[in-house]
Amino acid sequence: MGKPAYDLWDDYSSHVCQGLIRKRTQQQLGEKMPSNRPPPFSEKDKIRVLLWSERHCCLCDKPCDTNIVVHHIQQKGNPEELSNIQNAIPLCYDCHGRIKSYNLTHRVGTSYRMEEVKARREQIYEKYTRHLIPLVNFNIEQGAPDKPELSTFPKVITHVTHGSESLPVKAKIEIKHILETGDSKKHDLGIMQDKNGYYSGKTLWHLNPAVRIRGNYTVPEECINSNFDMWLEARLTIIDEYERPHTMLPQAWKYDRKGYYWFLEPTSFTEWV
Ligand SMILES: [Zn+2]
Repeated sequence: MGKPAYDLWDDYSSHVCQGLIRKRTQQQLGEKMPSNRPPPFSEKDKIRVLLWSERHCCLCDKPCDTNIVVHHIQQKGNPEELSNIQNAIPLCYDCHGRIKSYNLTHRVGTSYRMEEVKARREQIYEKYTRHLIPLVNFNIEQGAPDKPELSTFPKVITHVTHGSESLPVKAKIEIKHILETGDSKKHDLGIMQDKNGYYSGKTLWHLNPAVRIRGNYTVPEECINSNFDMWLEARLTIIDEYERPHTMLPQAWKYDRKGYYWFLEPTSFTEWV
């Protein structure tokens, strides 16, 4: 025999009500009890850091296979910064436990410093991605005999060369100009904003093995109409096939306005005394 109709209705209504109550309670609890955990990293970034470290712990360098955690270095702060790849570090279970359990009220040993952890992570990434970086060279040219129209000041020719037959990479090039306005004062004009983004770092250069690309740009207006000494500083970043950036030291050239040539300085403008 089946249940009377009103019993069925009661079962149905109580089931629905309980479900609604459960859902609402969860929502209320969720609203009242926000998680203390930092926001998660994107799947894409997790894959990147696991590839960059070849699944090695970024503190002790142990191969971890699946026993690895992508840890947040900073635990509190701006959500965007917390979930940024710069805040991620792959760790083995042991190091993950150690890095979280250091007791400030019972100081034994030496805790990991935030800067040290980040530097150690870069050391490990470098170890496992260095082989992906070929020899890439950036240079400039003024007064090229075969291209006078493209290389007469204020135009400058650039050369980007992939110097080996190994892997393809992408490159980011950022160029800025600085005027020495006397009394050791400097006027930094900032990263140039060219229309196509090739020299502002916004557009990546595709460098296949043994490719040499010749480009050109025009120095900023302020530099053309000035008699102050002028510097050009270029920063080259090579991006490997797993999208890890490798930033080279900045290179700086000083312009000789009388001789119409640039000479390479062995330092960056900011470090020059
Ligand atoms: Zn470890």
